Amino acid sequence: MPVEREEFDVVVVGGGPGGATLAALVAMQGHRVLVLEKETFPRYQIGESLLPSTIHGVCKMIGVTDALAAAGFTHKKGGTFRWGAKPEPWTFSFSVSPKIASSTSYAYQVERSKFDKILLDNAVSKGAEVRFRTQVSDVIEEDGRVVGVTYSGEDGAEHRAYARFVVDASGNGSRIYKRVGGTRVYSEFFRSLALFGYFEGGRRLPAPYSGNILSVAFNSGWFWYIPLSDTLTSVGAVVRRENAEKVQGDPEASLSALIDECPLIKDYLSGATRVTEGQYGQIRARKDYSYHHTTFWRPGFVLIGDAACFVDPVFSSGVHLATYSALLASRSINSALAGLVGEEEAFTEFEARYRREYGVFYEFLMSFYDMHRDEDSYFWSAKKVTHSGHTELESFVELVAGVSSSEFALRDAESAAVRMKDKSAEFAAAIDELAADREGNMAPLFKSSAVRQAMQEGAQVQSRAFLGEDLGPDVPMFPGGLVTSNDGLFWLPAKA
Ligand code: FAD
Repeated sequence: MPVEREEFDVVVVGGGPGGATLAALVAMQGHRVLVLEKETFPRYQIGESLLPSTIHGVCKMIGVTDALAAAGFTHKKGGTFRWGAKPEPWTFSFSVSPKIASSTSYAYQVERSKFDKILLDNAVSKGAEVRFRTQVSDVIEEDGRVVGVTYSGEDGAEHRAYARFVVDASGNGSRIYKRVGGTRVYSEFFRSLALFGYFEGGRRLPAPYSGNILSVAFNSGWFWYIPLSDTLTSVGAVVRRENAEKVQGDPEASLSALIDECPLIKDYLSGATRVTEGQYGQIRARKDYSYHHTTFWRPGFVLIGDAACFVDPVFSSGVHLATYSALLASRSINSALAGLVGEEEAFTEFEARYRREYGVFYEFLMSFYDMHRDEDSYFWSAKKVTHSGHTELESFVELVAGVSSSEFALRDAESAAVRMKDKSAEFAAAIDELAADREGNMAPLFKSSAVRQAMQEGAQVQSRAFLGEDLGPDVPMFPGGLVTSNDGLFWLPAKA
């Protein structure tokens, strides 16, 4: 008897934040979505420090705001760094000022096993089907187009699922990303290794920053110190390639020796014990995690999240890039399935915006590593142009957060639409002001027009989540490009 051909509109490979976000956004349009996930959730994953744009932008769009709030994750108001020439740690806050209450000036530090399950459960509640313990081994091609995948299930047999679009959201260990064509290019600049474990009873930063990520540079690289609960802390050393021998051999001894090298982290962990059981009981290592693929799509097939690219974790951009690329790709899929724009146009827009966003973080991080050696950084420039009494980094965030988080709009919904329509121009002006100091010299971060553009797009994602249809007409990001629909779920041709 012939086996019935299983058909879907979209097959998503991998149920991490990228896959779960895309599945929800496409299923919300009534399309048939199948997610194939090789693990059973909850499962462990690294990448615990999130950004406000994920929490208040994309997560709001997919409808998980209440579930995330109920999960009791640590509130992250910003970051605290022992970095650069100054010996004392310095802090930045997502809010314009730490004293001003704002409903969007925080993110979460999450246990990824819990966070990822919330997002995947949400995709199911929006209509997606999820199959756990199913491992995708290849894509199926017909006439030059990807039309499905082969996968093995719990029965050990090979199965096939067909779809109009296949999305590779299976992370950095993807088995199918090469089928998009092109190559994965590893970064020469960010060639670090990470060694990480979990501790109970570590110290906390003083209030109100006890939920901040603490990043501490030391001779061999830098440490992250992420408070996941009142007592549980994620601690990881990112070690430069030339110090690779320090993370080889016994992981326990290596992590311990690195902690001994870094007095601030050693002090914070002085009364703590390492977790040795359960999902946090292992010391794990990662390497070669900074790369980008040279193409992100081909007919019928698209890469999102870590399957496409990732860069050094110092500014916690991974989950942001995964969920943001899921939003961009879902717009392309939803628009193509609805016949609003052609596939080529839709995915060209996806790739251009995603590549630019990745490029922004890449450039941002290179400047930040430059700052490690050069005190005359962009934070100093920000302080000079704003004449702020706050720290350098707070001065920087004051300008950026004022545009990206639309706190006024939230407090005053009626005038929000009017304010938001002028947002792009205000933002560009604010960034241009920040970009140059009084002598007209450009700070390194802002030399790139891509940086300015991407910050503007970040502002729009958050604003649309809050204001929906009140935001006003969009303008193309690239000449001849597409615009976003008012609800943020589709691409549309720009009006002539
Ligand atoms: P993943 O989260 O990797 O999800 C992919 C899913 O696909 C998994 O569930 C996997 O089981 C499944 N899968 C894989 N292969 C198959 C297959 N063949 N068939 C079916 N399913 C499959 N990001 C942050 O935002 N903040 C941080 O603080 C941070 N710190 C980091 C520290 C380090 C050292 C590293 C290396 C990364 C860090 N990241 C951080 C990045 C973050 O881990 C990733 O960017 C993020 O998890 C990517 O999400 P994703 O959905 O693309 O993929």
